[in-house]
Amino acid sequence: MTVDHRAPLRHVVATFGIPVAGGLWYAGWLATGVGPFAVAYLAFPLGCAVAAAAVLDLLRRAPLTGPARRFWRLMLVTYGCVGGGYAGLAVQGFRDTSVVPPMPMAVAVTAGVGFLAAMWAMARAPLGIAGVGERWRQWLDRAIAFLGCGTILFHFGLAPMIAASDLWSTQTVVLLGMSFALAVGGITKVTYIRGGPIDRSALRLIGFSGLVGAAVALLLVLGGDPGTVPAQAVVMPVAPALGALAVRRQWRPAAVRPARAGTWLPYLAVAAVDVPLIAVIPGVLTPADQLVIVASVLVTGLVTVRQFVAFRENARLLAEKRLTQRRLEHDATHDGLTGLANRALFRQRLAARLADGDATVLLVDLDDFKTINDSLGHEVGDHLLIAVADVLRAQSGADGLPVRLGGDEFAVLVTGATTLGETVAQRILDAFAGPLSEHRLLAHASIGIATAPAGTPLDRLLRDADVAMYAAKQRGKANWVRYHDGMARPVASHAQLGGELRRALDAGEFTVHYQPIVALRTGRIVGVEALARWEHPTRGMIPPAEFIPAAESTGLIVPLGRWVLREACRQMARWLAEFGPDALQKVGPNVSVRQLHDPDFVADVRAALADSGLPADRLVLELTESAVLRGQQVSRALYQLHELGVRLALDDFGTGESSLSLLRSFPAAIIKLDKSFVDGIELDPPGLPEADAGQAVARAVVQLALALGLDTIAEGIENQAQADRLVELGYSVGQGYHLARPMPAEGMTRLLAAQRHLTSSV
Ligand code: C2E
Ligand code: CA
Ligand code: CA
Repeated sequence: MTVDHRAPLRHVVATFGIPVAGGLWYAGWLATGVGPFAVAYLAFPLGCAVAAAAVLDLLRRAPLTGPARRFWRLMLVTYGCVGGGYAGLAVQGFRDTSVVPPMPMAVAVTAGVGFLAAMWAMARAPLGIAGVGERWRQWLDRAIAFLGCGTILFHFGLAPMIAASDLWSTQTVVLLGMSFALAVGGITKVTYIRGGPIDRSALRLIGFSGLVGAAVALLLVLGGDPGTVPAQAVVMPVAPALGALAVRRQWRPAAVRPARAGTWLPYLAVAAVDVPLIAVIPGVLTPADQLVIVASVLVTGLVTVRQFVAFRENARLLAEKRLTQRRLEHDATHDGLTGLANRALFRQRLAARLADGDATVLLVDLDDFKTINDSLGHEVGDHLLIAVADVLRAQSGADGLPVRLGGDEFAVLVTGATTLGETVAQRILDAFAGPLSEHRLLAHASIGIATAPAGTPLDRLLRDADVAMYAAKQRGKANWVRYHDGMARPVASHAQLGGELRRALDAGEFTVHYQPIVALRTGRIVGVEALARWEHPTRGMIPPAEFIPAAESTGLIVPLGRWVLREACRQMARWLAEFGPDALQKVGPNVSVRQLHDPDFVADVRAALADSGLPADRLVLELTESAVLRGQQVSRALYQLHELGVRLALDDFGTGESSLSLLRSFPAAIIKLDKSFVDGIELDPPGLPEADAGQAVARAVVQLALALGLDTIAEGIENQAQADRLVELGYSVGQGYHLARPMPAEGMTRLLAAQRHLTSSV
């Protein structure tokens, strides 16, 4: 079954034709006086009949929902009753000779029922609002508007007619009053309707059709008896015409419109009440009373203005808030300098892509950017970066995502065919062929391309692209290279890493892992060593062996070490709070020689302890022999730390040259036997010279420690045999992969929880 959705126009044309024809007839009648005036009385019932036909058509053929159907059924009753009633009046007009036929009670009651049906329909029309607060606010607004508009209509429309009640029958006045009520009710209601089953503009048209009553009242008040003829012939038939138009609108209802913060109607209503109030002043009361009225009019006026201003202000603030929110969201996912997507957004998009398809990534690294930055200044450098960003934006393709990863590192997430990677890379290099930015600088870039199938870990793809990018650099820069399996992973130079360390530190790419230090006989955890980890966004986990030397040579080890120290203290304090003082005896971060030379180092340690609330005797600083032998200043710092209550451990013990003499000049509390003496210690029978030497040192160290009252820790234990042998030699505490690997703080927390559980259940 197909439904005919086309709204017929014929009803609208017919109903509007009636008042037009009525007007023509009236003009002719005035001029010639031919025919009975009662012809005028035919126009309105005729219009109502056509409107009723339009509604009937709508009800029969249009796909209406329940509430809309109920509404239009009531409107059918309205047009039926009102039209029927006034048809009766027309009959009366043809019978009677007087100009105004007295309205028979039956006519008035029939028409009245019609008006009631329309009011009922209007009242039940759903508003499409949700919240209770919103509902109440609208009720208030509508009550204000209703009272305001009603007052105006009453004052200027009904009241004069009531005052001259000998001219107009009570029936006429009541019907007009009802039409006013319908108009005001309909209009105030429809201002709030956002949409729904009943078309908004249809409701508005029907509301406005009630205003026809106001025009009639005006004609009657001004024109007296003869005014009824044009009222009947021209004005009244406009109401069913508007009704027919409303029906046509209902055929294709408008979409729901967004909620609005408020409406002008209540303000208008308050102002409207003030107008009749001013109008009555001259006629009444003493000057003192008049003053009161003027004052109250002024006050309501001012309050209205005040309210309106506040409303505008609220709307402005809301708009501003939305704007800042959007800006914040943007800032969190975009680079401040270039406006490109940042690393976070890049990873998010890349992960989403890899979840259900292959992805191609370009890593774009500027060649010699550092030289430009250092020689021409940061401002010029910034301009170059912005120009580079513009190039990437232009060349990334329709749905490629250009990204600034940080510093002079950029990336493009290419969507589409795999081979597009090469195309985009070449386009970027071509664009770099000419001078860039207002400073007309020449920039070159090395680009690494990698593609991975769905499900590949994101970091793996980025590492491949990174390897390809370094290969491009090695091939003489200004070049692109696509990654292929087996491509050698180049060892990054200190200088390269050093440049990135600073950014990494700011970007929070470092974490601390903890390796348990364990009592060898019981397996109980007695402490942890804190070890720095660098989770590089494209190269993955970089081991300390690679970045600590670079950090030392660039001096960045000082802020990095300070951060590790603070982090370790904080974490240790947290564990003590959670698991009690017996769970862990100590935490040991590593301290580099550069840190010991930093004049603020002791203060840093003191602050780290104070800020975390960790007792000083829970902190063990791991130092190497070579670090300790660095003259007066370092010596003084070490004694100050000792006095603070912090303990010092000699790391990698035995690998230096002056280990023994050192122990006398240095307030050490712990010796960590280097892994090289533990390697092979288990080999039995003795005979391998290596193991022999290792055993000899291990034994000597433990005896020395015993003599000097120092604790020992054996490092790098990789199997049980080593652990057993170390116990035989006199070691009670050890560390190594066999006992536990370094792990993130959460892993350590789980381990401590398990240990507590074990202890408490023993
Ligand atoms: P280290 O202080 O001697 O730390 C012990 C290293 O040996 C750690 O390597 C640890 O993971 C590893 N290890 C532990 N048990 C075993 C085992 O059974 N077998 C083997 N083969 N290795 C084991 P990691 O974490 O790679 O650290 C390497 C070095 O980097 C550290 O040696 C330390 O000198 C330095 N380092 C690490 N974090 C920091 C830091 O925050 N500051 C400073 N200044 N240096 C750090
Ligand atoms: Ca260490
Ligand atoms: Ca060590």
